[in-house]
Amino acid sequence: MRDQELPADGLSIEPTCRIEFGPGRIAALPRLIDELGHRRAYLITDRGVRAAGVLDRVLAVLTEAGLEHAVFDDVAANPTLSTVESGAAGLERFGSAAVVALGGGSPLDAAKAIALRAQPRLPGLPLLAIPTTAGTGAETNGFGVIEDPATRRKVYLGHASVRPAVAVLDPELTTGLPARITAATGLDALVHGIESLSSRGANPISAAYAAQAVALVARWLPVAHRDGTDLEARSRVMLGAHLAGQALTLSGLGLVHGLGHAITGHAGTPHGVALAAVLETVMEFNADTAGEAYADAARAMGAGGDAAAAIRCARDLADGLEIRAPLRDLGVHRDMLPSIAAAATADPVTRNNPANTTEAQLHDLLQTTY
Ligand SMILES: [Zn+2]
Repeated sequence: MRDQELPADGLSIEPTCRIEFGPGRIAALPRLIDELGHRRAYLITDRGVRAAGVLDRVLAVLTEAGLEHAVFDDVAANPTLSTVESGAAGLERFGSAAVVALGGGSPLDAAKAIALRAQPRLPGLPLLAIPTTAGTGAETNGFGVIEDPATRRKVYLGHASVRPAVAVLDPELTTGLPARITAATGLDALVHGIESLSSRGANPISAAYAAQAVALVARWLPVAHRDGTDLEARSRVMLGAHLAGQALTLSGLGLVHGLGHAITGHAGTPHGVALAAVLETVMEFNADTAGEAYADAARAMGAGGDAAAAIRCARDLADGLEIRAPLRDLGVHRDMLPSIAAAATADPVTRNNPANTTEAQLHDLLQTTY
């Protein structure tokens, strides 16, 4: 790693959530809820988590401990403001409880907004996050990405008080994930690490998290993708995804996410698949400005130390995961491109991109990945 620039006005960084990590760690959930001063739990999840049997495993732990609980499992793949309203109404009916978010990024993000919305005033209800994918790092911050269907844009809802108090990182909960979801969520974690390294908001602390995250995910994601039952690979990718979440929470991200959010908003493409479609093109666009950060990413991925090596490694990794496709194969119509470019320009996440962008440049980038 090169020497990171020291911020002229210093650093003020709060540690994020407490982590409980390890295979089988879900068994600690009743004690963790108790330590937050609650004896009741309101679980927020989605139907996929229920269908995979993961919700039942968690409910069995709560039932055995005699904890009263209710379940809201109506979170869609890209949660909307109406998801938040109905989840909050259910929580108000259930009454005071710890909120347990169980799932990938969507249930975790929805849970933050629901925990906030259900309270008449701040702070929001205490939140425990149990990721069932290794990707989003959503357990590390108090902000949820929620879609406003009227504008097809992402809105960021949240508050420091609904940053999860505890994250239970139990890799056993991810061993049943299908390979294509392992690929999409794991690639999201890799992009979090790379974009965090090159972000305008990067600092020595975020870079430490990001470099380790990139190293873990690049090395172990292909193994977890090949054999989903490999618990060591699942464990290391889960830690990598969490560290990437710590990194991005401190640094912000960049244009891969700006475009990715806009593509998902227009075509419903899964987050990681949308990122994979534009990753190489955006890295090439940024390479002159972000050369040193990309060199750090290359070294973390075990490749040579320049931007070209990082771009090659990231592309090869995505290809090995069979996740990279042109936008035209992802439900994106050519006439959506101007609106995608506009939404990406307006997305606050784009402001941390190392290189400046104009809407016209983004439109050109989209044409080359179409
Ligand atoms: Zn992401």
